[in-house]
Amino acid sequence: MHALMMNTPLMISSILKHAERNFPEVEMVSVTVDQSRHRQNNRAFASRCRQLANVLESLGAGFGDRIGTLAWNDFRHMELYYAVSGSGMVCHTINPKLFPEQVAYIINHAEDKILFVDVLVVPLLEALKDHLKQVETIVVLTDKSHMPESSLTNLQCYEELLDAHPDTYEWPQFDENTACGMCYTSGTTGNPKGVVYSHRSTVLHALAGALPDVTGASNMQTSLPVVPMFHVNAWGAPYAALMVGTKLVLPGPKMADGETLHDLMTSEQVTVSSGVPTIWMALLDYLEGNQKTVPSLSRVHVGGAACPRVIIERFREQHDCEVVQGWGMTETSPLGTVYAMKRGMEGFSEEEVTDLQLLQGRGVFGIEMRIVDENNSELPWDGSASGALKVKGPWVAKGYYGLSDVPGHEECPVDKDGWFNTGDVAAITPDGFLQITDRTKDVIKSGGEWISSIEIENAAVNHPDIAEAAVIGRYHPKWTERPLLIAVAQPGKSLQKSAVLEFLTDKLHKMALPDDVVFTDELPHTATGKINKLGLRETYKGYKFPDA
Ligand code: ADP
Repeated sequence: MHALMMNTPLMISSILKHAERNFPEVEMVSVTVDQSRHRQNNRAFASRCRQLANVLESLGAGFGDRIGTLAWNDFRHMELYYAVSGSGMVCHTINPKLFPEQVAYIINHAEDKILFVDVLVVPLLEALKDHLKQVETIVVLTDKSHMPESSLTNLQCYEELLDAHPDTYEWPQFDENTACGMCYTSGTTGNPKGVVYSHRSTVLHALAGALPDVTGASNMQTSLPVVPMFHVNAWGAPYAALMVGTKLVLPGPKMADGETLHDLMTSEQVTVSSGVPTIWMALLDYLEGNQKTVPSLSRVHVGGAACPRVIIERFREQHDCEVVQGWGMTETSPLGTVYAMKRGMEGFSEEEVTDLQLLQGRGVFGIEMRIVDENNSELPWDGSASGALKVKGPWVAKGYYGLSDVPGHEECPVDKDGWFNTGDVAAITPDGFLQITDRTKDVIKSGGEWISSIEIENAAVNHPDIAEAAVIGRYHPKWTERPLLIAVAQPGKSLQKSAVLEFLTDKLHKMALPDDVVFTDELPHTATGKINKLGLRETYKGYKFPDA
């Protein structure tokens, strides 16, 4: 029997329409390259989105065309999110911090027709202009007075284009499985691969993201997403916020700048913020160094990499702020798991709660997960068995742009049974808390045993004089591979190998104790702020253990 319910397609434009009607006065505050503090409400925002849809049409873009963005978090990037997708085109966000060759590869692979770019990105495009094959127009996200001098001949000014177009536009309705957005994964191996989101997956992801035990987004909250809009849709904040009427505060290019973040948080009374661990370390150091606090901030979301214990403790003890860790990836939109307390845990000590916050959180409805051994047999959720993590759900990728999406095909990340292989190694506790122990390619295989590089790194960064640490496996004649710890000292501190190893002795299994510790001034990071293990493996290619 067929149900008798409306089959209303899940459209991104419906979020915009809802926000304009229900939360017209809610503000969106941005820092941009040309303005230190820009404010507009949702009414003005929706009107400008309609103008932008007309601009896109006037530039010759049509249904399904890819429109690239190279921009930081601000109101103009938000307008692109809604106007491009809302009119049936594909909003292709590109990370401007990638290597120029990667940026060119990604733009060409997606066949972007128009690029919308921040002023700061213009020099990059000048350098790439002979390599961009399909790009017809480049629109600079600024007003006339801030337009840069440039050798590019196809530059247009965003505000001038908007001013020239009316704000009347009817958002079209179409199949909810139509592509709305694209984001390439950083490609730590091989070329970057394009993940293609749909209206359906994005709206469902935003609904799940707004649940109380996920982000608890609401009209009463003010949210500062420090996670970039060029990477996995800023974890869905641009959609979830407008869905429930959250006030958005967008930091523009001042992402890792402690002073700007503190200023925005206090003056705009930010209640919740999200970002990778590196951002939080920078903010905490700034606050401590300048004896400042962030009284309005009650919750910080952290993900993208394992959250060190010190971040959780410092936020709680110095700022009375809860840290909520989540796990996800570009291919999972990114929401997979998020920390939330469970019944029965009310009486837990601070120490016990911190131990749980250090795990990657519990599965969100919509995401099914499983861990499997080398034979693809499912492993128990007992907190100790660890294996390859696989997931499935309506906002998980089933293939990459331009590659085969036939399950089981070598180009497809989905196995024959329909599970997406995350490339992470994990255990799951009986309570359903995920614990990422490593990425498959970072696991150290020592004498037949698997050693988690993350476990050693987590233990090492708890040393008061270690600022950052990374562990890679290096060749060892007896064990095949052994862990090498590479550490950066806190400013003004010096480290001794013997003292570091002694510190780790009672915190790690004997097998996991690194065979050597080397010190460096700086670790390499990927464009998304993660430690670049590939780069480290390259740097320490010829390294030999002292006993080898
Ligand atoms: P990439 O860095 O490959 O471009 P993503 O940004 O999508 O890709 O990163 C996804 C990966 O980041 C996950 O597969 C996982 O290894 C890691 N990750 C994400 N969140 C966490 C977390 N909370 N703890 C540990 N690792 C995490």
